[in-house]
Amino acid sequence: MSNPQIVVVGSYVQDHCWTCDNFPVTGETRIGEFSTGPGGKGYNQAVAAHRQGAPTLFLGALGRDPLSDTARRFSADIGLNVAFEECPDSFTAASSILVDAKGDNRILVALGANARLSAEFVRSRAASFATARVVVAQLENRIEATAEALSLARAAGAIALLNPAPRNPAASAELIRLADLVTPNETEFAWLLEHVAGDADAAQAAGDPSQWTDDGLRALAARLGLATVIITLGAGGVFVAHRDAVTQARWRDEAPSYRIAAERVATIDTTGAGDAFSGGLAAALALGDHAPLRAAVIHANRVAALSTETLGTAPAMPTRSAVTARFG
Ligand code: ADP
Repeated sequence: MSNPQIVVVGSYVQDHCWTCDNFPVTGETRIGEFSTGPGGKGYNQAVAAHRQGAPTLFLGALGRDPLSDTARRFSADIGLNVAFEECPDSFTAASSILVDAKGDNRILVALGANARLSAEFVRSRAASFATARVVVAQLENRIEATAEALSLARAAGAIALLNPAPRNPAASAELIRLADLVTPNETEFAWLLEHVAGDADAAQAAGDPSQWTDDGLRALAARLGLATVIITLGAGGVFVAHRDAVTQARWRDEAPSYRIAAERVATIDTTGAGDAFSGGLAAALALGDHAPLRAAVIHANRVAALSTETLGTAPAMPTRSAVTARFG
């Protein structure tokens, strides 16, 4: 594809998902159900954006092994454009996801080839960045590749969207500040307060759920000092905070900060909800015609909510027609 509107630079992981009534405790064996499919934060976000109808290119890394076949086959099946750096001396990343009857999850990931994704490979696709409206990255790859993606986004004048997940000490504060939009969940937000703002007191306060009023969030986000931060709060919805009047005006928002409540859905598995949100947000921004950020956040909130009604990550990303059918 020569003209993607969205370029996602990120991780691919083969998910292995077990459902169980309760998580096994140390030393215990339990019987559960099993399914496997494509995932990884970056790939999930690319699939979410693609299914919302935005021409999307995913750049990632794979080993030369049977799991890599799933990545290529699933991408071809859904018509997602991908370019993978082959890393024969590594392996395709794999995860173990346990989901209990309440829908809570516990996840272990072996990053494999994701940790080998090179800045050179990302740079070799510079032509695709030149036409992109939105570039999306996370912190689940070798950090040089992430940095290259954000630099190319800046050079192209594209919106740089960083999902700062998982927490990654190799990502410098300067790198995170390159992003126009940063989409942490609660724990990543607390980490950013310590890591980017160097504010251990605020990070500790953010770790205290009693602080999570809108006023508390507003005050904490102000200490973070990022241009625009969009904090995903699970069933608590989303909180958006602009640093100042300049960033608020850039995004044509009426308020400097605001919360969007979560949509009411029949949640069975929240794994990948944050990815659905970032991918849905990227698509709404790429396809939207100078709409306020708030409109894009509302759309992303819907994409994320619907993704929780299906087990799995990448395959659980809803289509645009599914979102429209449910929410109008
Ligand atoms: P992460 O998966 O990164 O931890 P969150 O748990 O914050 O991210 O979820 C991301 C977004 O998914 C939320 O901001 C919300 O839009 C949506 N979401 C998550 N859980 C639910 C839920 N139970 N009901 C409706 N929407 C949800």
